[in-house]
Amino acid sequence: MYETMIARSILEVLTYRITSRNQPCSAASVNIMVGELRNVNVDGLLFAFDSIKQNYPHCARCELVASRAAASARCRAGHNYQPKGNAAYCTECGESMAELIHGQELEITNITVLDSAGVHLV
Ligand SMILES: [Zn+2]
Repeated sequence: MYETMIARSILEVLTYRITSRNQPCSAASVNIMVGELRNVNVDGLLFAFDSIKQNYPHCARCELVASRAAASARCRAGHNYQPKGNAAYCTECGESMAELIHGQELEITNITVLDSAGVHLV
């Protein structure tokens, strides 16, 4: 399942970041940004993350917080607009899309790490 693969990648990034700190600590939360045009089921991703995080010792209590980024694009005439679904044409002039600015994100935007005493490190 695609969402499980994404959850695993996030947990691997967290584990790498934490183990590279060379001190006992754990991830308290991780924020991700998911573009509106990304075919990701956010509820499925949250469920997958919570189901497998116990397998990652530094992430067993980590909370995943997902935000969706609205799609935005620029047409060949230079207008910024919101592409609707698969219709990539400018809503203002009908020109085709020159650049998709937002909507395809799938990235970690913030990680909260605590040391073994519960002190906020990052
Ligand atoms: Zn336009």
